Amino acid sequence: MQENVRELLSHIGENPDRQGLVDTPKRVSEAWQFLTRGYGQKVKDVINGAVFDADVHHMVIVKDIEIYSMCEHHLLPFFGRCHIGYIPNGKVIGVSKLARIADVFARRLQLQERLTNEIAGALMEELQPDGVGVVIEAKHLCMMMRGVEKQNSFMITSAMLGSFRDQLSTRTEFLQLLERDGTH
Ligand code: ZN
Repeated sequence: MQENVRELLSHIGENPDRQGLVDTPKRVSEAWQFLTRGYGQKVKDVINGAVFDADVHHMVIVKDIEIYSMCEHHLLPFFGRCHIGYIPNGKVIGVSKLARIADVFARRLQLQERLTNEIAGALMEELQPDGVGVVIEAKHLCMMMRGVEKQNSFMITSAMLGSFRDQLSTRTEFLQLLERDGTH
């Protein structure tokens, strides 16, 4: 990867041997390994047994999980907030694990739509809840820094599974709870 970064620097008209850039290939390589570490992670390992039996059947919501991902079309970051809701069916999961699960999928090359679906699908599989809803609002540097240069637009995607998909009242409750506290 370091050799490729050196070539990239040359291609954009830089001198990869100048002082400020000498160590850049090494740093970029390390940064990319971090930014894409999700490829080496599995949801099951991340959960690591933190699923608990609980007789809870009302909605659990965790809002404002920070996410940082890389758009697969431009290799530029997109970042924002992820909101996850689910209705347990005998099993609940540690709150911090929801953020870790989101990260497993965010730390890969992504489309926001697919990221949203993958998080929802993983929770459906691991918890077998009545339903899951995931909403992500994110800003894309590929939109902000290039092309249309829409600085303030953000993209909202949602994935609704189980009762969140089939029951309007459940979906409405979820979305209304997200709107509190100034969440868009
Ligand atoms: Zn893009």
